[in-house]
Amino acid sequence: MTTSARLLIVGPQGSGKGTQGVRVAEALNIPVVSTGDIFRANIKAGTELGQQVTAILEAGDLVPDELTSEIVRDRLSQEDAADGFLLDGYPRNTTQVAHLDAFLAESDAALAAVILLDVPREESLTRLRLRAVEQGRSDDTDEAIAHRLDIYEHETAPIISVYEQRGIVDRIDGVGSLDEITARISAALSARGIGQLV
Ligand code: ADP
Repeated sequence: MTTSARLLIVGPQGSGKGTQGVRVAEALNIPVVSTGDIFRANIKAGTELGQQVTAILEAGDLVPDELTSEIVRDRLSQEDAADGFLLDGYPRNTTQVAHLDAFLAESDAALAAVILLDVPREESLTRLRLRAVEQGRSDDTDEAIAHRLDIYEHETAPIISVYEQRGIVDRIDGVGSLDEITARISAALSARGIGQLV
């Protein structure tokens, strides 16, 4: 029997969760739902949502929970996410965990696994500085990075213990080559009966 691949990837900024998330989702043929990507796409397209969140993202603050959860709910209601999805960047605090739980419970569903990418702070900072040079993301200034890492530590890290109590967290060493890390994630998911990534 295969388990529905309703997944969350979580890790500090610079942990490589975006990159690994895309790889895992492609291998499992499920959509990635990245709240950061959704916000950035809206900013780029100049939508009303984009205008609403531009300053928030630039400062590295969190977009209000209600608004974020509503966007995710809409996205997860689409047909391609019916049997599986990989969330990246949501939930990001315990309020959002409660919102997601409530939404999934409506269809008797729940997350099957939470992939936690473990990367030392120094390594994250090095990778983020490199990304700032390569991609020029407006929230990759030293100040916004420090603020986002603080929010991660204080608001996002606590959600891990919530999921640990449910026994669904796979802690993955996030230091190594891209392929090595994908292989580690693959092995952890396989052990839960989720997919067969190569
Ligand atoms: P990073 O993990 O490097 O901070 P993301 O792309 O995940 O990058 O998020 C970028 C920004 O988008 C966040 O700093 C925040 O402003 C906003 N954002 C993304 N996800 C959420 C969320 N779940 N709740 C609130 N704000 C969010």
